[in-house]
Amino acid sequence: MDDIVVIGGGIIGAATAYFLSKAGRKVKVIEKDPSYKTASFPLSLGGFRRQFFQKENILLGKFAREFIFQIPEILKTKKNPNPTASVVPNGYLFLFGTEHAEEQYEALKNHKECKAETKNIKGSELKKIFPYLNDDGIETVTYTDNKMEGWIDPYLFHGALKNKAVELGAEFIKGEVKNISEVKANIIISAVGYLTNKLLKDIPVVPQKHTVFRVKCPKHIADMPLTSDFTSGVYWRPEGKEYLAGSPISSFDANDLEPDWNHFEELVWPALAKRVPIFEELKLTGGWAGYYDCNKLDNNAVVGKHPKYENLYMASGFTGRGLMQAPGIGRALTELITTGSYQSIDLKAFEIERVLENKKRPEPYVL
Ligand SMILES: Cc1cc2nc3c(=O)[nH]c(=O)nc-3n(C[C@H](O)[C@H](O)[C@H](O)COP(=O)(O)OP(=O)(O)OC[C@H]3O[C@@H](n4cnc5c(N)ncnc54)[C@H](O)[C@@H]3O)c2cc1C
Repeated sequence: MDDIVVIGGGIIGAATAYFLSKAGRKVKVIEKDPSYKTASFPLSLGGFRRQFFQKENILLGKFAREFIFQIPEILKTKKNPNPTASVVPNGYLFLFGTEHAEEQYEALKNHKECKAETKNIKGSELKKIFPYLNDDGIETVTYTDNKMEGWIDPYLFHGALKNKAVELGAEFIKGEVKNISEVKANIIISAVGYLTNKLLKDIPVVPQKHTVFRVKCPKHIADMPLTSDFTSGVYWRPEGKEYLAGSPISSFDANDLEPDWNHFEELVWPALAKRVPIFEELKLTGGWAGYYDCNKLDNNAVVGKHPKYENLYMASGFTGRGLMQAPGIGRALTELITTGSYQSIDLKAFEIERVLENKKRPEPYVL
C-alpha cells in the first residue's frame, strides 16, 4: 500500500508533491500524459496576481508572489542549482466601466484587509500613469507596482517544482486512473484539472475552452502590465517582442483545441485598438487554445477532503488561476493532511461540501 498517491502530475500535482515530500511524506504521482500536451498549465498565460474579490484568492495570490520570488533558493536541486521561472513582474492593471465599479469598490475593502497594496485611481487619471491607453468609458482603475504581480513561464515553473519534489523522494509514474477504487493508498489526492468531473461525477469542474492570440505591433511597450479591460472582457500582456491577447468568449462544448480564430477580427482586435490606439497596427502571428478547469457552480476553487470517501482529497476548479494558486494549494493540502486543519491560509470556504450542497461563493474576477 502506498502512503500518498496524487492523480495528475500537472501544476497542482507537482506543487502538492513538493510540499508533501518536504514534510517527509512518501508521494507517488500518477500522470497519464507526461508530455503534458493538453494539460492546462503549459497553455496558460503564466499570470500571478492578488487582484481578486474573495479574500482567499487575494491571499493565495500574495503567497504566489512570495513563493515565485524564492524559486532560485527553495527549488534548487543538485541537477539544477539555478532554477528559474523567468519572472516578468510588470504588474496587473484592471480597467472597470460604471457597471463593475461598485463591485470593485467592495473588492478593494477585501484588498485592504489582506494588505494587498492595490492602488486605485479614477478613470480620468488613467492617462497620467499609462499614457498609451484610451480612458473612454473607464470609471475606475486598479493596479499594483513594486513587482507585486506579473507572469512566469509555466513550463519552467512546473519543471522546477517537479524536479525538487523528485529530489525530495517523490516518484512520478505514467498511468491513467479510470476509477478512484483502483488506487490503493493511505491518502489519495485528485489533481486532474479540467478532467475532474470524469473521475468525480459529483464535482462540477469541467473543461472550458479559451483562445489566446499572439500579435505583433511595430510599437513595443515592454513595461506594459497584464491589462484586463472589463468593459470588453479582453486582456493582454507583452510576450517578448510580441503581445498575447485573450478572447472574452469561452465554450463548454468544444471538441478540440483549435483556436477560435474568428474571435480575433470580430472581437479582440477592435477591443484592443479601442483601448490601446497603437494596436490599430497589429498583425496576428499565432495563437492557441487551452482548457480552464472551470467550476461551473461559482468559478471558484474546490479544495479539501471529499466527505463521501475515507481517504480522498481533491483540488481543482481554479477557473483561470490554478498556476498561481498551485504553491498555496500544495501547502494547504499538506497542512490539512499532516495536521488535520489549515495553518497558513484558511481555505475552508473552498470545501467540497459547499459544491455538493450547491452553495455558491463566486469569484467575479475571472479573465
Ligand atoms: C489559456 C489559458 C490561460 C491561463 N492563464 C492562467 C494564468 O495566467 N494564471 C494562472 O494562474 N492560471 C492560468 N490558467 C489556468 C491554469 O493553467 C489551470 O488552472 C491549472 O493549470 C490547473 O492545474 P492542474 O494541475 O489542476 O491541471 P492541469 O495543468 O491540466 O494538470 C492536470 C494533469 O492531470 C492529468 N490527468 C488528468 N486525468 C488523469 C487521470 N485520470 N489519470 C492520470 N492523470 C490524469 C493530465 O494529463 C494533466 O497533466 C490558464 C489556463 C488556460 C487554458
